[in-house]
Amino acid sequence: ALMITDECINCDVCEPECPNGAISPGEEIYVIDPALCTECVGHFDEPQCQQVCPVDCIPLDPQREETREQLMEKYQRITAA
Ligand code: SF4
Ligand code: SF4
Repeated sequence: ALMITDECINCDVCEPECPNGAISPGEEIYVIDPALCTECVGHFDEPQCQQVCPVDCIPLDPQREETREQLMEKYQRITAA
C-alpha cells in the first residue's frame, strides 16, 4: 500500500482518482486505508494518486510492502465484496 506523508497540502486532487475509494480526508491530512489500496493493481498500470499529487507526497509505505500477487488478491477481495 501507499501512504500519504505530512507534506500533504489537503488539495483533494487524489481522492476522486482512487479506483478503490481508499483515500479520505483524515483529521489533519489525507489518509490512505491500506486495506483498500492495491497500488492500483487491477485497475491501472500506475498508482493514480501518485500521478496527480502536486507535491509528490505519496510514497510506498515501507511498513506495508506487498507483492503484485498480494495486491491482486486484495483487488479480487475488494471487487468481490
Ligand atoms: Fe488508491 Fe491507487 Fe492511490 Fe492506492 S495507489 S490509494 S489504490 S489511487
Ligand atoms: Fe494531499 Fe497529494 Fe492528495 Fe493533494 S493530492 S490531498 S497533496 S496527498
